[in-house]
Order: sequence, then structure tokens, then C-alpha cells
Amino acid sequence: MRHRQSRRAFLQRSAAWAASVALTRSSVAAGSAAHRTRLILLGTGGGPRPKRDRSASAQAIVVDDYLYVIDCGDGVARQIVRAGLALPRLRHVFLTHHHSDHNADYGNLLLIAWASGLATRVDVWGPPPLVAMTQHFLKMSDLDIRTRIADEGRVPLSPLIEPHELNGAGVVLKDERLTVTATLVRHPPIEHAFAFRFDAPDRSIVISGDTNRAESLIRLARGADVLVHEALFVPAVDRLVARVPNATTLKQHIIDSHTAVEECGRVAAEAGVKMLVLSHLVPPDDPAVTDDMWVDAARRYFKGEVVLGSDLLEV
Ligand SMILES: [Zn+2]
Ligand SMILES: [Zn+2]
Repeated sequence: MRHRQSRRAFLQRSAAWAASVALTRSSVAAGSAAHRTRLILLGTGGGPRPKRDRSASAQAIVVDDYLYVIDCGDGVARQIVRAGLALPRLRHVFLTHHHSDHNADYGNLLLIAWASGLATRVDVWGPPPLVAMTQHFLKMSDLDIRTRIADEGRVPLSPLIEPHELNGAGVVLKDERLTVTATLVRHPPIEHAFAFRFDAPDRSIVISGDTNRAESLIRLARGADVLVHEALFVPAVDRLVARVPNATTLKQHIIDSHTAVEECGRVAAEAGVKMLVLSHLVPPDDPAVTDDMWVDAARRYFKGEVVLGSDLLEV
């Protein structure tokens, strides 16, 4: 019986994986043909624990081959390569907040992009202490950097990196391709947690970061084409936190600082976005929560298009 159940679960997982690969491939083709401003989900699992089928939080926006990366969860550089994108084209990095499922590979992304040929400026935008974090990382990696400059003739890395600390809402940057706007969202106990909006001539994309329902996010996302929103499947949280000793505290923290998937639908409806993309899924890998359960819960309050995020999906 036990064997049969686990075999059935295996077959279900295999079928889900095959479907997600097929969806990813067709969407990559469709997306790249349809939009000048491309959005690729690099990692769609919430929380720092490495998952078999979902990488940690990260998104790529690509315009004219320039790479804008939002969040740097574990594995972000490899996911960029797996998405077929060029690491040396990294131009801007945005960190929504300093939880390790969003920033663990921040420094590594810079270092590995540089080791892959990056030789041009990268601006980095995020909450304090971003400047100190950047300096510490470069110092920690000094031996490798010096060795590669000597052995491989690379340009020094540290003059290429420009960190900018964000303390409040407003326009972050405006370049020839995009305008980026930030707002503060609700992710206690983190004081500086941001959502970002990217306005390009052909489409507008909003990334929620980690947040409970936030009126500021609804205002930021007003009328956007795409809202990538973190999502929590509340009935499954008990099973998720059963693994840790302080389950009650952790459960309360998760519920206070994240958004139930039904509420994501409400937020999308109130903001009047065209498409809601569910990402940063918590739980990220509970076989009892099917794809349909995620999507149906969000559709309860939102009549636009709902997409369940998966790694390397282009939307
Ligand atoms: Zn997170
Ligand atoms: Zn967080």
C-alpha cells in the first residue's frame, strides 16, 4: 500500500514536471516573440530551504538584451544561464528585502557574472545595509578576484559595482529602456521591504516582493499589465511548519507577513491588472496543493488571467 501510494505520488510529480516543462518551452517561445520587454521567472519557491523543483526567489526582465534582475535567491546565476540569458549583460540588480531567500546569491551573482565575462557597470538597488554588504562581499572574494585579474586579464570588479540604498518610495531609476518605481510593502518585522514597478513602452510589470496585503502595492500596481505576487496557501501552512520546533511562532510570522492566495486575487482585482502571476509559493512543494488549487483560489476574486509561476517560465 505504502509502495503503491509513493509510486502514485511519483507518477503525479513526473506528470506535473513534464507538463511544466512543456508549458515553459511553449511560453518561452510565445513570450519572446510577443514582447520587447521580456519577463522570465527564475525562481518561484518561497523560503530559504533548497527545493528540488523550485529555485529561490528571482526574476529577470530583459530589454534589448540588457538584464535587470529582481532578487537573488540561491541559484540565481545558474537559473539565468538555464533561461538562455547572458550573464555578462547584467545591468541592474534590485533587492526587495534582506531575507536570505531573496539575497543569498546577491554577491555571487556579481562575482559569477564577472567571472563569465561581465566588464561593464552594474547598478544595484535595495534597502540598507546594501553598501556595506557589497563592500564585505567584495572583500571576502578578494583573493579570487585578484587571481582572476592576474590569470585571466579581467578588469577589476569593484569599480563596476554601484550600490544604491533605498529608504522610501519613489522613482528608482529612469533609463532609455525603463522607468522603475518602488514602494514600501508590509513584511514585518522587516522595515525596508520593497515592491518594484517596471514601466516600458510596451508593457508594465510589478514585482510584489514579500508582503501582506498592502494598499501601497495596490496603488503601485494600478493598471499594470503583469503583477507577480507572492502567494501563500494558508491551509497547508500547518503541514509546513510541523517540521520546526517553534511551529506556532513561525506559523503566525508566515501569516502576518505574507499574502493568502485568495487575497492575491483581491489585490489584483483592486489594482485592475491584466495578469496575475503567482510566485514565491509557500508551501513550494506540497503535493497535496495542486496547480488547480492555487489558480482556482486566486480566481475566486480576480477575473483576469491567472498564471501559476514555475521556474524558467516566460510570461
Ligand atoms: Zn521570501
Ligand atoms: Zn521575506
